Amino acid sequence: MTPDFTPEFQALRAAAPRIAALPLGHRRARLKALRAELIRRRSELHAAMRADLNRPEVDSDLNELLPVKESIDHVLANLSRWTRTERLPLPLTLIPGRAEIHHEPKGVALIVSPWNFPVNLCLVPLVYAVGAGNTVCLKPSELAPASAAFIASVVEAVFPPDEVCVVQGDVAVAVALLEQPWNHIFFTGSPGVGSKVMAAASKYLASVTLELGGKSPVMVHEAYGAERAGRRVAWAKGLNAGQVCIAPDYALVPAAQREDFIRGFKAGVAQHYGATPSTNPDWVRIIQDRHWDRLNDWLEEAKSEGAQVWQPDAPDRERRYFPPTLVWDAPEHLQVSCSEIFGPILPVFTYGSTDEALARVNAGPQPLVLYVLSHAKAWTNRILGETRAGGTVVNDFYLHYMHPELPFGGVNNSGIGKSHGIWGFREFSNARSVYRRGRFAPTMLLTPPYTGWVKKVVGWLVS
Ligand code: NAD
Repeated sequence: MTPDFTPEFQALRAAAPRIAALPLGHRRARLKALRAELIRRRSELHAAMRADLNRPEVDSDLNELLPVKESIDHVLANLSRWTRTERLPLPLTLIPGRAEIHHEPKGVALIVSPWNFPVNLCLVPLVYAVGAGNTVCLKPSELAPASAAFIASVVEAVFPPDEVCVVQGDVAVAVALLEQPWNHIFFTGSPGVGSKVMAAASKYLASVTLELGGKSPVMVHEAYGAERAGRRVAWAKGLNAGQVCIAPDYALVPAAQREDFIRGFKAGVAQHYGATPSTNPDWVRIIQDRHWDRLNDWLEEAKSEGAQVWQPDAPDRERRYFPPTLVWDAPEHLQVSCSEIFGPILPVFTYGSTDEALARVNAGPQPLVLYVLSHAKAWTNRILGETRAGGTVVNDFYLHYMHPELPFGGVNNSGIGKSHGIWGFREFSNARSVYRRGRFAPTMLLTPPYTGWVKKVVGWLVS
């Protein structure tokens, strides 16, 4: 039977006007309580991450706890400024009067999140939704059940259920939630599901933020040093075993330097994850058998079509272990060449000229991130100027995500709307235009009948 979330939705909707009208101190107090609860229960968070993903504790601190804590601190420091009514100067036609922008909550928001950074990707949007004054329903991913239970327990300790509620469950639950007339839906997940969410939102014309994925390239300049590039990509691809929306998906290196890149990648894997990552207690597991099978099938397809493959040791389905894997000479039509990998496989492609490299990147959907490894400023700027992407990091990985005021999100296939900082706050806010007139309303001087005087004034205005 299809679940019905009308009672949960109605409770959130009934509370929304009251929550919106409370002083900002209420939002601040809730966010501070959330921060304290998370820090107090840090070891539970670590245990949930180990259970779901075998995630090392340091990675959980850096990639789950820290972004939530920093988002809360950033909202607390800026909330007064972001919510302040803005007063605008007036064009001649609107004098006398007063033009204002009021940043008001949208109302009731639904947040649907994925499993790969389950706490971060559920609670960071929550911080902005609560900061903006909304009531919220959270739907964490069913593929990270320990994390979903942890999120539910933390949220229940901090918020009454008519302010923020957590609904746990699978796709059927998510689909049923989308039946409700939310004021805003913030979805993080795959482009395919994102388009279904957008279709569901269109029923009630809910606004959407879609944080999606895709193939994020690493473009390596010929003077960067291909071996060094390979080493650096090995680390970046290894984070969370490549199960990161902003992981480098594939590398694009000068044709003459491919062997150097391959050598560097192998050395980078050994340096960061050891000669046999299968014995490294901190190498993250693939989330599900289904995803392990997908990666394995794609690799088998690549091998059968003549691609070269390097792995430091053998995959192990029982432990959902998948090693860092390098693929080269892969034909363009293969899954590893065309689809988002979302795992520790790195295909390497080559280019002869910059035009060729640009054409390859621009032939695909616009990526969530485009990485550039280059100290040649003119080349870097040409790449920036002649491509489109949700974000770009030059000579490093992931760091645009960590800046609290850089807008985070994709473009078209990789996402719609932005998160983080004021951008995140605004996704959950309605910028309401308010124009106030006093007693004297000169509009009435320009109303019909259109006398010669009116025509003269209008003629002067448009000239
Ligand atoms: P997913 O799209 O399969 O699932 C995400 C969420 O949507 C889950 O909570 C799931 O229950 C729900 N869902 C699944 N099918 C649904 C449907 N038909 N209708 C409504 N909801 C549905 O994604 P995933 O496998 O959890 O995560 C991997 C994907 O997410 C990758 O594409 C990755 O790039 C992307 N991602 C993007 C970001 C970002 O910030 N841009 C961050 C993390 C992951």
